[in-house]
Amino acid sequence: MTTPRKFDNLKFSLYENAHETKMYESYYRNGAWDAGKISNFHNLELSPAANILNYGQGIFEGMKAYRSVKGNIVMFRPMENARRFVRSCQRMAIPTVSVEKYMDAVKQMVLGNAEFIPETEDGSHSLYLRPVIIGTEAQLGVKAASEYLFYIYASPVGPYFDKVGIISLWVTDIHRAAAHGTGDAKAAANYPGTMKPRQDAMDHGYNGALFLDTVHNRYIEEAGAANFFALMDNGTLRTPQLGSILPGITRDAIIRFSRERLGLKVEEGLLDVEDICNNARECFVCGTGAIVTSVSKISWEGKEYNVNKNDYQLAHKVYNQLIGIQLQKEEDPYEWVMEIR
Ligand code: PLP
Repeated sequence: MTTPRKFDNLKFSLYENAHETKMYESYYRNGAWDAGKISNFHNLELSPAANILNYGQGIFEGMKAYRSVKGNIVMFRPMENARRFVRSCQRMAIPTVSVEKYMDAVKQMVLGNAEFIPETEDGSHSLYLRPVIIGTEAQLGVKAASEYLFYIYASPVGPYFDKVGIISLWVTDIHRAAAHGTGDAKAAANYPGTMKPRQDAMDHGYNGALFLDTVHNRYIEEAGAANFFALMDNGTLRTPQLGSILPGITRDAIIRFSRERLGLKVEEGLLDVEDICNNARECFVCGTGAIVTSVSKISWEGKEYNVNKNDYQLAHKVYNQLIGIQLQKEEDPYEWVMEIR
């Protein structure tokens, strides 16, 4: 087993010594992907007319590798990321990368960067992997590129939110993803529109923005780069239905084990922001980056609501269950954990 390096004060940001890590690259030219290879982290060279730089034809994924308590290097449901990557390709008119190619590249990257996987006891530290595809063809017209680059880089990371464990959210009336748009794909283009709302939230003293649906401006969709859950006063755990939100892999896992192991009634549906603000006992967000992060308060239409009347008890339970499985502290009845080594 490679000895991990010692890291100080890791945040969720690109590692300051990224140039010491390895990256993966595979090119799509003349209608086919090449075999791909690992090399040292380096800058990319692109034409100023590359599709990604002008029209934003690009997709990405986010995954983590952990050192488990059993001493294994593990990943959580990586095949689901591979399948979502394929769906994102299809939505953005990008030639698909097969699940096998994706997994082979991810495994090479995890093993090649093993020394950068931090030790962790509570799951707050990991090696984050960022698979990306960008349209590289130099072109002027608005159309799908004929050349692409699939690359992966890696960075040891710490907690996602500055305030570990508990955040406050500010409901924005700028929308993230239109109905029947690209919200359910992990398209690069979905993210720049969320930056102003995030800044607005922070200017108002909140940690992040909470997005509503575009049709009614009423139903909660998701929070920045994380899915949303609310435990209601009647004991039901509710989460926004799929459609224009990203189908989070963490979300899916939480729905399943909350029903089957925590014995909760879980509903996917429309979460009216007014109902959540007034009748939620506890709220949390979840994702690969956010893991499970409690929500203390929500600001909506100029009023602040305390959405934690349960002392974060459920979020703690869900966090412990999820991280317990991910770090091999708990049994893994769903076979979600893949041992890379
Ligand atoms: N929603 C958005 C917009 C995201 O970018 C992410 C992060 O990938 C999530 C939700 C959570 O998804 P996952 O649990 O698959 O990381």
